[in-house]
Amino acid sequence: MALIVQKYGGSSVGSLDRIRNVASRIKKLRDEGNQVVAVVSAMGGVTDKLIGMATQLNENPPERELDVLLSSGEQQSIALLATALQGMGVDAVSATGRQAGIVTSGSHTRGRIEDINPSLLQAYLDEQKVIIVAGFQGVTQTGLIHTLGRGGSDLTAIAVAAALKADLCQILTDVDGVYTCDPRVVKNARKLPEISYDEMLEMASSGSKVMQSRSVEFAKKYGVVFEVCSSLNNNPGTLVTEEHPAMEAVVIRGVSIERSQARVTITDIPDRPGNSAKILGALADAEINVDMIVSNIASDGMARHSFTMHTNDLGRAQAALQPVLNSLSADAQLETEAGLAKLSTVGIGMRSHSGVAAKMFQALGDAGINIGMISTSEIKIAVTVDETAIEDAARVVHEVFELDKKPVA
Ligand code: ADP
Ligand code: ASP
Ligand code: MG
Repeated sequence: MALIVQKYGGSSVGSLDRIRNVASRIKKLRDEGNQVVAVVSAMGGVTDKLIGMATQLNENPPERELDVLLSSGEQQSIALLATALQGMGVDAVSATGRQAGIVTSGSHTRGRIEDINPSLLQAYLDEQKVIIVAGFQGVTQTGLIHTLGRGGSDLTAIAVAAALKADLCQILTDVDGVYTCDPRVVKNARKLPEISYDEMLEMASSGSKVMQSRSVEFAKKYGVVFEVCSSLNNNPGTLVTEEHPAMEAVVIRGVSIERSQARVTITDIPDRPGNSAKILGALADAEINVDMIVSNIASDGMARHSFTMHTNDLGRAQAALQPVLNSLSADAQLETEAGLAKLSTVGIGMRSHSGVAAKMFQALGDAGINIGMISTSEIKIAVTVDETAIEDAARVVHEVFELDKKPVA
């Protein structure tokens, strides 16, 4: 008897018909003799709707109350799914984050899973029950409700699979695997049979929202191998796993895009030890996630720093930086640009192949797409472009690396 942990995302439980479909899939697994724990998201659109309601009442909704509110979305879907299963004669029970023993730390709306005490889940499994666990939520040691960041049900599923030592972990969604690029953007994107944790992590953290990036980090840390597949068909999905030597033969595994990016540039800062720390420190204190950082020294010896961030953070970043700039130099200037997007190419094969950046930049140049900032890691090259050009840019880069074609081994 295998223990299978599955996760069904918002679109997979987005209507009563979809919930019935999920219930039938779980019943089939159960009838085949498996033990099933299904982690479920809120019905598609519910989390956004709840945020919208809170924001109408208060422009800056208190995060503690947001957590109480948003966690109710997942609570609806677990009860509905368990109800559907019982209607089909399956002995199913729902479990909230607290009941599933998910202990969190960190801040409201960005909780981190600290520990899982699966004693109640284990007791239900011993009674041969199917368990439906609420994704995206946990409670602190002192009993406060935390949510785990957008897309956080992925993290719940991976953590529950690790805690229960599941035989199989599946992330079921509205696409049948991880593709070389978002198939909604690049129509001829190809489904990958497998991808390494590091590549999945880079893709997820640079905009491929098919997996939440922190869930991939967790999977890597605890060695949870998982499959991304569809809740609507039985096509083979994508295995996310530890890298093996054959994987390096492929130079580029995939391309990610991230919209709604903005740039802040600060110029005419004296080039002195500690100044960069003061600037980044002000952004960190304002809890702003800075992505790319490019710094250099102009011919007059003054420093220039550029950062990218989500457009929503731009106003707060300006407010946080202004007092620091005033203290650093009377001449310091701050300039901003919104309407950007980021394009990233990812592949562990980059470690052993050269010329990737040149090929990517040439293709973008030939297509008349201007590159703004550039940043790289060992397995990623990322550039900013105008947001209006991002889809073309993704298609051009996908094409030049022939990602639609199966690589020759
Ligand atoms: P769920 O509600 O199941 O959590 P998400 O909407 O979070 O689903 O993630 C699935 C979506 O991720 C797909 O519909 C697809 O548009 C998008 N996506 C982005 N990049 C990729 C990629 N490289 N491969 C597959 N899907 C991707
Ligand atoms: N419902 C949450 C969200 O929309 C968590 C999830 O779907 O994974 O982000
Ligand atoms: Mg998701």
